[in-house]
Amino acid sequence: MLTVRSSRPLSQLRIAGKEAQAPLERASDGRVFHGLFGIDLARKPGNLSLVLDGTEIDGSAFSVTRVMRVLSGRFPSEPLRVAPEFVEPPAEALPRIDAERERVASIWREPVGPRHWAGPFRLPVEGSLRDNFGARRVFNGQPRSPHNGVDFPAPAGTPVRAPAPGRVALAEELYFSGGTVILDHGGGLFTSYFHLSRLDVAAGVLVRDGQEIGAVGSTGRVTGPHLHWSARLEGARINPLSLLHLPSWPLP
Ligand SMILES: [Zn+2]
Repeated sequence: MLTVRSSRPLSQLRIAGKEAQAPLERASDGRVFHGLFGIDLARKPGNLSLVLDGTEIDGSAFSVTRVMRVLSGRFPSEPLRVAPEFVEPPAEALPRIDAERERVASIWREPVGPRHWAGPFRLPVEGSLRDNFGARRVFNGQPRSPHNGVDFPAPAGTPVRAPAPGRVALAEELYFSGGTVILDHGGGLFTSYFHLSRLDVAAGVLVRDGQEIGAVGSTGRVTGPHLHWSARLEGARINPLSLLHLPSWPLP
């Protein structure tokens, strides 16, 4: 969470640089602004220029830049064995895979809606979890993209609950992720739930904090029943466990 303090009241402020864009919410007196800001899993370490575009009370515009340093993460390597069709999909599955990838990508491009949540998220499944966010994965001996979420090994049928209020952006069966739900929590924040054995919600509906959205399963590219949980903030792939530590942030 980014907090910006101004010596004089402003009418608005946003992160608007080439490297990062995010809205900031104005606190009552116009001197304090808050916003969430995500750094993508694959972003190279080094300096990041954060450009803040603002408007003064008298309507004049200004821009300031602050440089942040992105530190390197340390990610393990995970060898995995899965059914061969999930490492080298058959030719007839490729059009389906491409269409699904485009559908999911279009969700991240949707305009940012109002924020639905007002505090820390809860875990979507009770029980153990593996913080394998960022792990480099080698499927059947072949390197694939890094793991962009965390996994909860749990018996098939274990309820999966919404960690915070949101709107269901997608609820369907996809090739790699199997039974899939994507929640739009507003403010540019999305969470995803993969490999579900059952979907309990439909696209478009609003879910409340703790509502059952499906059940753990082993559909799609898996080694056994588990929930894969991931998060996107303004397009950046972030560790969903960081959402458990959000401060309480009343709705505007
Ligand atoms: Zn996973």
